[in-house]
Amino acid sequence: MADIPLPRGFTAAKMSQAQKAFEAALGADKVFFTDLDRTAYEDKFAIDDARHHPAGAIAPTSVEEVQAAVKIANQFRLPLWPISRGKNLGYGTSAPELAGSVVLDLSRMKRIEFDEANGVVTLEPGVGFYDLYDYLQQHKLPFWLSTPGNSWGSVIGNALDRGVGYTPYGENTKNFCGMEVVLPTGEVVRTGMGAFSNAPTWGLYPFGFGPAWDQMFVQSNFGIVTKANMWLMPEPESLMGMDVEYDKPEDIKAMIDTIGPLRRERVLQQSPSIGNWLRAAAVLTRRTDWTDKPGALGDDVIDAIRKKFAIGWWGVSLRLYGREGVNKAAYTILENAMNAIKPLSIKPTSWVKGQPMEYSGWTGTPMTFPMQNINWYGGRGGHIGFSPLLPQDGTAALAQFKRTYARYKEYGMDYQGSFAFGERHLINVNAMIFNKDDPKMMSRIDPFFRQLVADAKAQGYGEYRTHLDYMDLVATTYDWNGGALRKLNEKVKNALDPNGILAPGKSGIWPTNYAGERKA
Ligand SMILES: Cc1cc2nc3c(=O)[nH]c(=O)nc-3n(C[C@H](O)[C@H](O)[C@H](O)COP(=O)(O)OP(=O)(O)OC[C@H]3O[C@@H](n4cnc5c(N)ncnc54)[C@H](O)[C@@H]3O)c2cc1C
Repeated sequence: MADIPLPRGFTAAKMSQAQKAFEAALGADKVFFTDLDRTAYEDKFAIDDARHHPAGAIAPTSVEEVQAAVKIANQFRLPLWPISRGKNLGYGTSAPELAGSVVLDLSRMKRIEFDEANGVVTLEPGVGFYDLYDYLQQHKLPFWLSTPGNSWGSVIGNALDRGVGYTPYGENTKNFCGMEVVLPTGEVVRTGMGAFSNAPTWGLYPFGFGPAWDQMFVQSNFGIVTKANMWLMPEPESLMGMDVEYDKPEDIKAMIDTIGPLRRERVLQQSPSIGNWLRAAAVLTRRTDWTDKPGALGDDVIDAIRKKFAIGWWGVSLRLYGREGVNKAAYTILENAMNAIKPLSIKPTSWVKGQPMEYSGWTGTPMTFPMQNINWYGGRGGHIGFSPLLPQDGTAALAQFKRTYARYKEYGMDYQGSFAFGERHLINVNAMIFNKDDPKMMSRIDPFFRQLVADAKAQGYGEYRTHLDYMDLVATTYDWNGGALRKLNEKVKNALDPNGILAPGKSGIWPTNYAGERKA
């Protein structure tokens, strides 16, 4: 048996006692401490698998069992790492930040309640996008999800990491409307109108009376969300739009300056994502189909890829949702705007209720095929994402693209970049796809990532979400007034979690007892 990873100050004997306490409280079938169990909860996409090994995992099935687990964690001062379904591939999967933590796997909590009149679903964390999709189909409920490119995960888990989908409800964290949370000391609270016993408005009014707390539990380590209300989009009468391709790298500027105002004006209510030529190639082919040369792909190969898939340097899908008459009018506005900046091609698409539907992210259908991209280089694939936030400004985006693309070439990596619109911002998602069986390539990833963080920091751009390995690094870039925000986060952390048992290090927030674990 391999050595069990232990948090600082822990002994194997103490971990074994904690394991027994979990077994007594939850039953042995909900406690996992074998080597195989630990392997199952590792981060398969990590640059270095060894950094975030859990000591084991537990899978409670009720709020009371979560409270019992928290009580034991406090008794033993044992860190827990909550996951909903733990499919956070690219950001840490199901592994904890602090090696030796016990994963609190909530994937067996799968209750769904639906308020059809208001389009509000009350979910437990284990409910995946596929589960909810099946539920809507089975009950013939006319609502659509907003699914991420990998929909294998949990609806709540994705929203708790500020994940995004591609319909007008795509900024998933904005769909939260009241939560039930187990605090690190074991009390249960309900936020918003949930604090008001029997209020029929828990899932309708997100704020309640006084401070509103939902976002406090997002990307934090302040509580374990055991239930949440989320708003779903009513099935639209019509879906219209277009897939548009542009020829040159420099076209990104005009694309952003054209789409941005339409998004801010809400002619476009969905958040489009502009992506480069590798998106299709990485999913549908492998690198060896194109070249056997190392280093970043040359322009000849890029041209060949573009020719084969009949795509531009950049492509974007724009979609309109709602009443058919409104969509038709808006379509003309979009078409004129996109034509004015001279696309390579515009492919229109249109659907009305009752017609056969396209199964894609635009219709909120769960999917997993984009994960095929990790086979691009061959070997054991993985990726991490570098995703700074930019203003919706074409000149700034073009400059950021040029800087980043030059770094991809410098580090010999194939560029997969996109610019995803929010209402006022852009998220510049750069996937670093790699082959974990290529040690030379793997030795470049960490310096490459750090370089990109430094480049973005120099421009005032911070990441919206990051892998476990870089949570401390990214937290330090949020440095205004001597890192006042981090100090506030840690003050709150220590007040809510005096024993530091919940997800120490998450988002760079360390409780006092683990402060020495912070990495720069
Ligand atoms: C090819 C590919 C494409 C992808 N495309 C997208 C995309 O388009 N959009 C996108 O957003 N993501 C995308 N992802 C990333 C990821 O796979 C999804 O975001 C996925 O939904 C996250 O996993 P999950 O939902 O199971 O969340 P989890 O892994 O369960 O949770 C995410 C994090 O939130 C915290 N957390 C979870 N549950 C709780 C809880 N109950 N209480 C407190 N804290 C909790 C944990 O710290 C956890 O690490 C993609 C990944 C791949 C590989």
